[in-house]
Amino acid sequence: MAPLIADLCQHKEGNLYVPALDCWLDADTPRPKGFVSHAHTDHYAAHQVIICNPETAQLLTLVKPYGEALPPCRPLRLGREVAHGDARVRLLPSGHILGAAMLHLEHGGSSLLYAGDVRPSGSATAPPAAPLPADHLVVEDTFGALDEAFVDSREGAARVVEFCQSTRQEGASPVLVTMSGCGKAQEMVIALAAAGLTTALQSKIWHFTRLYARLGVPVPLGARLGQETVPDADVVLVTCAYLEHNDLGARLHRPKYALVSGWAATANARHYDAAIPWSDHASRAELLSFIEAVQPRLVWTFAGEGKLARELQAAGIGARHLA
Ligand SMILES: [Zn+2]
Repeated sequence: MAPLIADLCQHKEGNLYVPALDCWLDADTPRPKGFVSHAHTDHYAAHQVIICNPETAQLLTLVKPYGEALPPCRPLRLGREVAHGDARVRLLPSGHILGAAMLHLEHGGSSLLYAGDVRPSGSATAPPAAPLPADHLVVEDTFGALDEAFVDSREGAARVVEFCQSTRQEGASPVLVTMSGCGKAQEMVIALAAAGLTTALQSKIWHFTRLYARLGVPVPLGARLGQETVPDADVVLVTCAYLEHNDLGARLHRPKYALVSGWAATANARHYDAAIPWSDHASRAELLSFIEAVQPRLVWTFAGEGKLARELQAAGIGARHLA
């Protein structure tokens, strides 16, 4: 049995479980009841019942495998506190992507903040994170040391626009490559539109962008990439997965590719013409400020290799890494 995080949350079978709510947190395999913090594929599993923010419930219709039904979602609005037996629970914005939520739990005189993927500064499509104080903070350490290289949203947007404009001035075709169809893709569309640049979107990104607009985000829809053709647009925007199965070289004049992701800070980016380390995760400095604001007695980290927990311990802050 894996360690117990106080009596609030257990780490077992490689996932996090909250006994007071009888609920799993971002579990990667289907459970009777699961909290899904946001609409990225690696946080979704077909639980029998899903607890999430209403915006996430909408976005999950595009995240679940094609042809499968979305399990029933019990929506919980950001900021609204609800009682569950002796426990009180509240969802708070995490700043990661549209709808992304942290879960704050109070039970038995102790409190826990499950932050998951967090970007304290927020973005053009997600409000800033709300770091409510908690005795225990559970936070991802996805990027290890890479996050020291991340640029903020403003600089990321500026570098994306600069790459596209300079590529077009050379007479080449700019292609922006991101990891997910949902999140930074829509932030890039907004930044490009503000600079007067039009976009052609991979179908998956196009569907997410249309849903973002329906959910009230002021994002222009852009054109949609066809199977064989590319519509008339200044910039093409696709995911890494799309490029693995599609050759844009045959459809574009001199394509130049920029990877826009936290992973742009790794050696993987050497396959691209440009690398822009703009992430929808916190930079290292942001993460440390966030932890300071939550004032936890103990920080629990997961994902990654435990670098953050070791850093915190060295600084005299109680921290443990969940391997
Ligand atoms: Zn995510």
